[in-house]
Amino acid sequence: MKTAFFSTKSYDRDYFDRFNASGHELTYFDVSLNKNSVALSQGHDAVCLFVNDKANAAVIEQLAANGTRIIALRCAGFNNVDLAAAAANNIKVVRVPAYSPEAVAEHAVALILTLNRKIHKAYNRVRDSNFSLENLLGFNLHGKTVGVIGTGIIGRCFCRIMLGFGCRILAHDLYPSEEMIKAGVLYTTLDTIWQESDIISLHCPLLPETKHLVNKDSFAKMKKGVMLINTSRGAVINTADAVEALKKEQLGYLGIDVYEQEEKLFFKDLSGSIMQDDVIARLTSFPNVLITSHQGFFTKEALEQIALVTLKNLSDFESGLPLENEVKG
Ligand code: NAD
Repeated sequence: MKTAFFSTKSYDRDYFDRFNASGHELTYFDVSLNKNSVALSQGHDAVCLFVNDKANAAVIEQLAANGTRIIALRCAGFNNVDLAAAAANNIKVVRVPAYSPEAVAEHAVALILTLNRKIHKAYNRVRDSNFSLENLLGFNLHGKTVGVIGTGIIGRCFCRIMLGFGCRILAHDLYPSEEMIKAGVLYTTLDTIWQESDIISLHCPLLPETKHLVNKDSFAKMKKGVMLINTSRGAVINTADAVEALKKEQLGYLGIDVYEQEEKLFFKDLSGSIMQDDVIARLTSFPNVLITSHQGFFTKEALEQIALVTLKNLSDFESGLPLENEVKG
């Protein structure tokens, strides 16, 4: 099937070419999908999109006019696609629901350990022959309370790892997991999570109900010095409120792999440019903030699964088979 890939990097091309046993005709574009680049989809049956490609109603109408019949997301989240507009234009939407939940859960744990034990600072110090321990003091994870918001496939992996550290887990989800309850996870209200957690990790999707779920009111209820980790989607946190909470030292640590305005920054080398985003500039000035640029998914195992499942989604569509990974509005 003729498929136009947007926002592609060298690793996307490597993995998709390696696993393209069905011989789909893949065209790779570096640019992201938006109203200015949508013309590139002309003549392709499918477009393959990543997290920061914007398939809003105007773009989708143009895709339909250009002959696109399916949007294949090579990611789990689908907040960047207007599903109602896709349905109205008879365009199917498929995704990769669970390529490697361990990859993202383990990255959340990496953020926790790095922030807590200040590994990033220790690495630089020792390379500079500074062997002092001043300001590197951490805390034991054992016995701490960890609040988990969203116990889907990634949240559950994260809970299992933190249970292994000897943490007490409080969780909030619309659909509590029996498996987690049996493992010792206690489901509770958001307010209890804000009030009792030493570490809070976000694993819910970005939906209208979860936009700015973490905001100035929730920060006010949290323990002073709490650690907040976000590997879900940037806009689940009100970033301006997080900056204020950091300034007041209410928020003691912030580890984020996702950021509200990330589409202008992430996955790009901007090291030679003047930073135009004042919020990220402020965030990077705090010693207790650690930012990675949406790399939670980025393991060999995950890239292999993403390529295999996306190509199968396309093959199933081409063959008229049921679309097991279809997303509907
Ligand atoms: P999932 O669908 O398996 O789980 C999401 C869970 O959130 C579900 O259990 C759902 O019931 C729950 N939920 C929905 N609304 C909620 C609410 N208002 N309050 C509490 N819980 C709510 O998804 P997943 O695979 O575990 O992924 C979770 C999120 O992680 C994705 O939506 C995506 O945004 C993000 N993600 C990030 C990366 C990365 O590289 N950083 C990679 C993959 C996914």
